[in-house]
Amino acid sequence: MFTSVSIGIALPETREQTATDLLRNADIAMYRAKAVGPGQQEVFTAAMHSSALDLLELETDLRLAVARNEFVMHYQPIVEAVQQRVIGFEALVRWMHPTRGMLMPHHFIALAEETGLIVQLGASALRQACTAGAAMMEGRSPEEMPFVAVNISARQLVLPSLVEEVITTLAETGLPPHLLSLEITESTLVGNAAAATLNMKRLQHLGVRVCIDDFGTGYSSLSYLHALPITGLKIDRSFVSQLEPDSDRLQVIQAITELGQRLGMTIVAEGVETHAQLRHLEQLGVEAVQGFLFSHPVDAAAAAALIGSRFGGAAAQAAKPLAGEA
Ligand code: C2E
Ligand code: CA
Ligand code: CA
Repeated sequence: MFTSVSIGIALPETREQTATDLLRNADIAMYRAKAVGPGQQEVFTAAMHSSALDLLELETDLRLAVARNEFVMHYQPIVEAVQQRVIGFEALVRWMHPTRGMLMPHHFIALAEETGLIVQLGASALRQACTAGAAMMEGRSPEEMPFVAVNISARQLVLPSLVEEVITTLAETGLPPHLLSLEITESTLVGNAAAATLNMKRLQHLGVRVCIDDFGTGYSSLSYLHALPITGLKIDRSFVSQLEPDSDRLQVIQAITELGQRLGMTIVAEGVETHAQLRHLEQLGVEAVQGFLFSHPVDAAAAAALIGSRFGGAAAQAAKPLAGEA
């Protein structure tokens, strides 16, 4: 066994300081040292205290937010590459914080995962997205009805209750299973593979789609691709953003697309920002695209207004970012 030691150091600052204060400060410094890496030491500073307090405050706020349901979903269209017609939406969570305004996921998703609050947050996200998806079906022919894609975190995917939650939510909102797609990341599959696999198989049995998000950035073991019931791959933004003729990225996307299609999966490229990127992706045979070129994430009403329209012309102008989304 190899062990390492992380040391937090606190120095007495004022006469009023108690032994408890000193120990607390040393503790905060020790956590900072651990965060830096194994075998480190850190001396406590006042800034560490305030960032520890900020985190504590955020955690308290997050618990309240779950209870008060302060989460709202925004929707970003997923567009068929050739016709540039909306075929679905990805639901993305925003936190309407009572004093700080609209917070984007990078402020709170990691903390929600750490604290387990992601389970309640995820349930709210799923319910809102299915409700919006069901509303978008009204008055449309079956081919026109868009699917909704919901992000599922690792903690949710291994919950034994996940599939029952999906069944209940679909039944209560009226969204048919084939119009729901769940996005999971590759790293999700590493931790508790057996529980995740079981849930994925049950979801497939229900008719719900399961896609691998941020494909190509994580663990990328090709062995799971055919072993698991995966209906689609989302090529990560980092590949799309560096797309240039003769670039390695182009080869990678081509390889991913061919592999996915041979396995019967649909391929979506994320983070499409330019017409040139769109053209390359189209030539590579990527079926669907998503990105700021078409629309930023928008609220449910603005998203519904995009259905049936085709991008490439006036429609793209209609989907300007909402305040805070740009
Ligand atoms: P993601 O699943 O990869 O979502 C796509 C992110 O890329 C979104 O950021 C979206 O606004 C952004 N994006 C879309 N098009 C473009 C583009 O053309 N250029 C650039 N630069 N960015 C683009 P957002 O909404 O901030 O979400 C960030 C991440 O937060 C998501 O990444 C996802 O991992 C997580 N997340 C969002 N909503 C949920 C949720 O309801 N549950 C869980 N578990 N995670 C969520
Ligand atoms: Ca996603
Ligand atoms: Ca993604």
